[in-house]
Amino acid sequence: MTPNAPGLSRRELQIFEAVCDGAEMAIAWFDAEGHLPWCGCRFADWFPRGLPPSPKGDEATGWEAAVRATLADSVVRQTLLRHECAAGGARWYQATFRSWNGGVLAVVVDATLKHLMEDGILRSERLHGLGGVAAGVAHDFNNYLTGILGIAGLLREALPAGGEEGQLVARLEGAARTAAGLAQQILDYTRDDPEAGGSADLGGCVDAVAALLRHTLDPRIEVRTQLLGEAARVGLPPGKVQQVVMNLCCNARDAMPAGGTLELAVRIHGGRATLRVRDTGMGMTDEVKRRVFDPFFTTKPPGRGTGLGLAMVSEIILGAGGDIRVESTPGEGTLFEIHLPLAVAAEAAKVAAPVADPTGEAAGGTILVVDDEPLVRMVAERFLSRSGYTVVTADSGDAALELLHQRGAEIDLVLLDLTMPGKRGPQVVAALRAFLPELPVVITSGYSEQSVTHAAWAQAVQGFLAKPFDRKTLLAAVEKARVASG
Ligand code: ADP
Ligand code: MG
Repeated sequence: MTPNAPGLSRRELQIFEAVCDGAEMAIAWFDAEGHLPWCGCRFADWFPRGLPPSPKGDEATGWEAAVRATLADSVVRQTLLRHECAAGGARWYQATFRSWNGGVLAVVVDATLKHLMEDGILRSERLHGLGGVAAGVAHDFNNYLTGILGIAGLLREALPAGGEEGQLVARLEGAARTAAGLAQQILDYTRDDPEAGGSADLGGCVDAVAALLRHTLDPRIEVRTQLLGEAARVGLPPGKVQQVVMNLCCNARDAMPAGGTLELAVRIHGGRATLRVRDTGMGMTDEVKRRVFDPFFTTKPPGRGTGLGLAMVSEIILGAGGDIRVESTPGEGTLFEIHLPLAVAAEAAKVAAPVADPTGEAAGGTILVVDDEPLVRMVAERFLSRSGYTVVTADSGDAALELLHQRGAEIDLVLLDLTMPGKRGPQVVAALRAFLPELPVVITSGYSEQSVTHAAWAQAVQGFLAKPFDRKTLLAAVEKARVASG
């Protein structure tokens, strides 16, 4: 290579190179034939064999074509190139070509971080969209489960105790409850509301994730849990806690491609809850260990790792006033240990508020049940009328408002579905408050309580009832709302 091929003196070239190097740019000069008679040190360092050839078939749009075109018409062009590093992993470079001195000057910057960031954002947007779909499915699921569980409950009460049919119905109820737990799990996972406060039982979340992992992990990975008999409540919503546990477990799985043991333990010590996630995988070098929490740091091939998992975990944990540390030895395994302050008792009491046992006394009064799902209307009607209430029903918000306009004085409480085609629950509440300001309203929904009680209109109602509900929870919610409104 001739050191002054671009037509600069040696001194000028040195200054030029120093400036480019300081700006972390790599420079090279292509001559009129498209050969590379000169390049700077950083360029030689990044691309010891020259710019990586574009993949087969992409030459017409790749950097080779850009250089040829700029040689011909002197227009500045930019291309993004991907380069497999000798040390493993890929990097992205942005090259700008401009005509200079009878050839083409290439200025290359490392765009890996920007590329990964855009890619990561796209991916998380996609996941976010998927989460919305999953939450919608879980919500509809809860409507059907209300029907299934309700009818099963009614059947069980009608059948003689201990009989074979009664046992079958009990099994049906058990299966429906399991399904309800699954729907709840989906709702917990997909809830991504940064405003949502709340608290979660760390052990319960670990248990839920472990149950999921036992079904999905390579069977050569043994999942062990050591949980407490009591709840370890921490000041994070269950969705966030599960996200943390899931991320640590996925990393452990990736570190044990040939199998091993994954151990999850929860303890309480000195006002703090501790979670330990230990694997017997490949472990980490000190260099990797130093960087594990850096955003975009990954040792996994593209498509497998984003380097965002532990960055997110540490953000969640530090944001909740906790801390996280890692111990690891190459070839022996890794331990992540998280400490979180225990949630204050008041918060715990609020979340774990037990359902008051309905008195079961013959109650009086008329309840309007509003739900677009006929099964839900039917089950609620049976439950309530068996307990002495008079029930009227409406299948939409508009039908409910019409009924309230005509017979509002007769109605003592409204059980109102949150999500219906046409007027939704909150709109119905707003409309009826104009002429029935005191009428108690209980909102029911297949979405979780937290996402509902944070809404602004939640102040205007007297209670919330999660679907699927059974007779006991329904009556308790109704009685509580009537007591609350005097
Ligand atoms: P990603 O999993 O997408 O690579 P993370 O932030 O979750 O991103 O992890 C960053 C890096 O930390 C991983 O690529 C891996 O090198 C290392 N790492 C994390 N957890 C473990 C573990 N349990 N065992 C070995 N290495 C780990
Ligand atoms: Mg990860």
